[in-house]
This record gives sequence, C-alpha cells and structure tokens, in this order.
Amino acid sequence: MAKVKKKIKSIKIDLDKCNGCRACEVICSAFHASPKYSGANPGRARIRMIRDPLRDVYVPVYAGEYTPAECMGRDKYVIDGKEYDECGFCRASCPSRDAFKDPDSGLPLKCDMCEDDPPQEKPLCVQWCLNDALIYEEREEEVEEEESPEALEVGVKALTDKFGLDQIMDAVARMSMSKKG
Ligand code: SF4
Ligand code: SF4
Repeated sequence: MAKVKKKIKSIKIDLDKCNGCRACEVICSAFHASPKYSGANPGRARIRMIRDPLRDVYVPVYAGEYTPAECMGRDKYVIDGKEYDECGFCRASCPSRDAFKDPDSGLPLKCDMCEDDPPQEKPLCVQWCLNDALIYEEREEEVEEEESPEALEVGVKALTDKFGLDQIMDAVARMSMSKKG
C-alpha cells in the first residue's frame, strides 16, 4: 500500500493541571451546536470530564471511534497513588455507557479537532482551558494510505446496530413515501 505524509493532530492532557471546571465541554458543545454557538449542552460535547472530586480525580477524555461491542476486560490504573476506574481513559463510543453519544439521536460523537473554515488556530477546548491542562500538538508522519469510513457510514452503522436493519429500511421507505406524497 502506498505511503503518504499525514499531519497528525493531537491533544496532550496534563492531568495534574485539570481542575474539572468543564469549560472544555461547554465550548465543544457550543461549537458543534446547529447553528454554531446557538446553545451549549455538555451532553453533546466531544470531550468529557470524568470527575471524582472526593478522590481528586479529573480526567478530560476526548471522543474517539465508535464501537458496536463493549470490551471484555476492564482495567484499573493507579497513578501517583490515585486510582482511576475501568473506562476512565477510554475514548470509545460504546454500548456500555452514554458517553460520546448524542443524547437525542444516540448517534456516536467523535472529536474532529474543531474542523472549521477558516481553520481555528488551535482546537477550542485547548483555547478555553485556562489551566493549560490541554496542549495542542502537530506532527507529520508517513502512514499507509487508507480508506476510512465516512461519517455517514459510521452513523448508519450505529443506527443499524441500535435499531436493526429492518427497522431502518422501513423508516427510510416511510420517509421516501411521505416525500413523494
Ligand atoms: S477546561 Fe481544562 S481544566 Fe477545565 S475541565 Fe477542561 S481540561 Fe480540565
Ligand atoms: S478538539 Fe474540538 S471537537 Fe475535539 S474535543 Fe476539543 S473542542 Fe471538541
């Protein structure tokens, strides 16, 4: 497979600096509201605060890939004496929890690094994190050219996983009939 140069964008997270203020969730959901900035519902954010103030645990996690099945094993992590639970660092939109799913449609949410036109100087959650817990990084890597599924395919797959293909086909048929009528 051919190799291509790809700009890799990532956000490094400094757990020691995060105080759980949730400003990142607010700006992410506002940026992705339709129309843009028309509202802010952290339930729609592509970054989530996993918080446990009593144990001083604050973990910002930004949304990764959708997966139709939950994983079999669960891990616990102990870092600097603090225990982080099971799914604490996981970025997947998966059936075992509500995180990273649109609260109305159930469709998976994924961080898009705030794609915008013109482009943002830095992702908005990074700009809004006044504690510098989120650090934006860019690097170039040589990777194998691959065809990634488009957002539409991922959305349709999530819907069929949730409702089954027959129900989706019925709904599409009904919608097309009502458009014709
Ligand atoms: S804005 Fe920064 S400090 Fe606040 S919750 Fe998000 S990552 Fe943590
Ligand atoms: S980079 Fe943008 S889309 Fe991704 S979590 Fe931050 S604000 Fe949301």
